[in-house]
Amino acid sequence: MGRGLHPDFYFNTVYEITPRFLLGQGIEGVILDIDNTLVYYGVHSPTEENTAWILALTAAGLQVAFVSNGYEERVTAFNAPFGFYSTHHAGKPRPGGFLRAAERMALPPHRVAVIGDQIFTDVWGGNRAGMLTLLVRPIRSEPWLRFKFKRLLERPIVRRLELHHKEVPDDR
Ligand SMILES: [Mg+2]
Repeated sequence: MGRGLHPDFYFNTVYEITPRFLLGQGIEGVILDIDNTLVYYGVHSPTEENTAWILALTAAGLQVAFVSNGYEERVTAFNAPFGFYSTHHAGKPRPGGFLRAAERMALPPHRVAVIGDQIFTDVWGGNRAGMLTLLVRPIRSEPWLRFKFKRLLERPIVRRLELHHKEVPDDR
């Protein structure tokens, strides 16, 4: 079991975490964080990729729950297509939200994996609850991507300007 702020495992994305891996760790239930683990903060419903991955977990016999520090409407909307047990304003890293989810799954904590992007909420809280903790790299925020994309678009233009500038004779 992970301890303190140390996760048991670290993955780049949730998609690298397979049902086979979880079952191999003796896991029967999975508690998922939403924001920056599955989708960007501002995305209100699961993506096709989210859905396919989550349905693969349930198809393998794993139970799934969402435990989020997000607000009620956000968590409820995200969970709507699934209808899993979910908690908003969970108070992570306090372990209560995780333990209540395990109780609803009728599973002891050591049969439950917490998957999230934050050490100070998901990992610390999951470890305090006595669960297996899996840290994933946070998804980049949308504004950041947009910014990067804009920069990429700008780059050839900027480069051309720089070239042009070099060709201009210096008349100082
Ligand atoms: Mg998160």
